[in-house]
Amino acid sequence: MPDAPASARLVEAFANTVDVEEGTDDLDTARKLDAWLRGQGLLRGGERVGARDHALGLRVRAGIREELGAHVGDAPDRSLLSDAAEALRELPLVVTTGGGGGGAGVLAPAPGLTAARRALASLAVAWGELALTGEATRLKRCSEHACAWVFWDTSKNRSRRWCSMRVCGNRAKARRYAARRATEAP
Ligand SMILES: [Zn+2]
Repeated sequence: MPDAPASARLVEAFANTVDVEEGTDDLDTARKLDAWLRGQGLLRGGERVGARDHALGLRVRAGIREELGAHVGDAPDRSLLSDAAEALRELPLVVTTGGGGGGAGVLAPAPGLTAARRALASLAVAWGELALTGEATRLKRCSEHACAWVFWDTSKNRSRRWCSMRVCGNRAKARRYAARRATEAP
C-alpha cells in the first residue's frame, strides 16, 4: 500500500478543511486560514493573512476539490476550475534544483511574494508536485456527494470511489437498490 507523499497529505488536509456532511468550513475567515497555515508550518512571523489572501486561498481550494472529484468520474464545475486557475496566477512558482528527483522539491514559491502568498503558493507547490509525479490521481473526492471527503486511494489499480466502502460505498449501494425497487414496483 503506497503511503501518501507529504504533498498529498498537505493537499488532502487543505481540501478537507471543508466538511460537506457537517456543513462546516474550518477556513471560513482570514484568521482561521492564518492559523491553519501556521499549524501546517507554512506561515511564520508577524505578517497576517489578509482578506484578499483568504479569498485567493478559498478559490484555489474550491478548484482543487473539483479536480479531485473528477478523479472519481464527477463532471467538474468548469467555472470553479477556471476561477482557481486564475487565483493560482497570483501565486507564481519557480523551478529549482536540488530536489532529489522524483518531482518533489522541484517547485518553489516565486521570490518576492508576501509571507501569506508564499504560504498559499506552498499549497500550489504541493499540488504541482503531485501532478508532476503522476500521483495526483490517487487523491480523490468521495463519490458520495453528501460526504465529498477527500481521501488517498491506496488500492493497487486506483479504483476506489468512496472514502470508506463501509459507510459511503454501502450508502450508494443502498440508494441504487432502493431506486431499482421503486422502478420495479407495479
Ligand atoms: Zn465518503
